[in-house]
Amino acid sequence: MKSHPYVILGGGIAGLTTAIALKQIGIEAVVIEAAAEIKPVGAGLALAANAMMALLQIGIADQVIPEGRELKAFSIYDQKGQIITRTDTDPAHSRFGISNFTIHRADLHRVLLAQLEPKNVITGMRSVDFSEDSEGYLVRIENGEQIRAKYLIVAEGIHSSIGKQLLPDAKIRFSGYTCWRGVMDNSGLNIAETSETWGKNGRFGVTPLSKKQVYWYACINAPTPNSSLKSYTKADLEANFKDFHFPIPEVLAGTKPDQIIWNDILDLEPLSQFAFGNAVLIGDAAHATTPNMGQGACMAIEDAAVLACCLKRNSDPALAFLEFEKRRLPRTQKIVKDSWRLGKIAQLENPLLMGLRNSFFRMIPKKVTEKQLEALYQVDLS
Ligand SMILES: Cc1cc2nc3c(=O)[nH]c(=O)nc-3n(C[C@H](O)[C@H](O)[C@H](O)COP(=O)(O)OP(=O)(O)OC[C@H]3O[C@@H](n4cnc5c(N)ncnc54)[C@H](O)[C@@H]3O)c2cc1C
Repeated sequence: MKSHPYVILGGGIAGLTTAIALKQIGIEAVVIEAAAEIKPVGAGLALAANAMMALLQIGIADQVIPEGRELKAFSIYDQKGQIITRTDTDPAHSRFGISNFTIHRADLHRVLLAQLEPKNVITGMRSVDFSEDSEGYLVRIENGEQIRAKYLIVAEGIHSSIGKQLLPDAKIRFSGYTCWRGVMDNSGLNIAETSETWGKNGRFGVTPLSKKQVYWYACINAPTPNSSLKSYTKADLEANFKDFHFPIPEVLAGTKPDQIIWNDILDLEPLSQFAFGNAVLIGDAAHATTPNMGQGACMAIEDAAVLACCLKRNSDPALAFLEFEKRRLPRTQKIVKDSWRLGKIAQLENPLLMGLRNSFFRMIPKKVTEKQLEALYQVDLS
């Protein structure tokens, strides 16, 4: 049986970033990952200034930045291409000294993995459950192995098995919409702007990445999770979005069908506990959110920075985990709730309500939106 003082369950963005942050403060943690190989699931990602500040604190912003593309503004359009809002991120940049970036998930994972020793990332090990005794935790692995840990950091994402054992009543919610994502070559279209379009039969987002790539996502309302929409082909998506403005039909047309990923949009109803003695939940296992504010991975990265600070300050890790919980609960709960509400607004289908929504958003002064963004990026990482 293998025994480690610190075990991080899950080698996604939360688990890997936390292992790096702990390494910086002299704590060697071992990451236990279910997948046979660490392969990013997904396409593109926005890393907002709050995540970039956390990466700076952890000491890896310089490695991430060259892989990303600066995101200077974000526009929302209606289906015909009329502007609804445009938000410049420059004021936030001046305030926090760092920009927003977009990045391909594969590039981010590669950078994160490169910071860790191969011996500290063990793949092909899916946790099943755990028990506790006087020596700490005993984690049972699907392949029959067992792992001993004194301290457990649970970063297994929204469907975490250990998370379910710690909080059996935690509720995964279906947002009411389902989502496709893809990445395509941007050399022909040269899309320079990050935008989202709110139409009558769905929402479509387009984000240029570095390396002449563009990332897109499409959200369509669905009656139930795992609905028949799941079997939508590229042709179905093209038909659904054919009346949307440039470059949406072109982006879909240029995407290879095998580069399209589908998943329902889910979140975790805000939890009221992250710390459980010598175990702690982080990342999506603690606060999975709908992607409407682009903050899920950003919060996971913040978690890594804050957890390292708490562990540095407290000689007793259980106290560090409690401090982490106290600091992270309010912010993450608020983002999960705000994102849920924003998704409902963005996915409206009733033409009257859509018209009212668009007029309302058009009236919001630029300064107000910029202030909201500044408040979102304002995070205590100490
Ligand atoms: C459509 C969409 C768009 C998004 N866009 C953005 C964005 O622009 N910006 C942003 O900040 N966030 C975004 N997010 C959210 C972001 O993807 C997640 O918040 C982030 O990936 C969470 O990271 P994590 O490491 O906590 O969890 P995960 O990425 O789910 O990683 C969990 C890891 O744990 C492993 N694991 C699971 N179970 C076990 C087990 N039993 N034993 C061992 N290992 C296990 C998994 O294999 C996985 O590697 C988006 C999400 C979606 C769905």
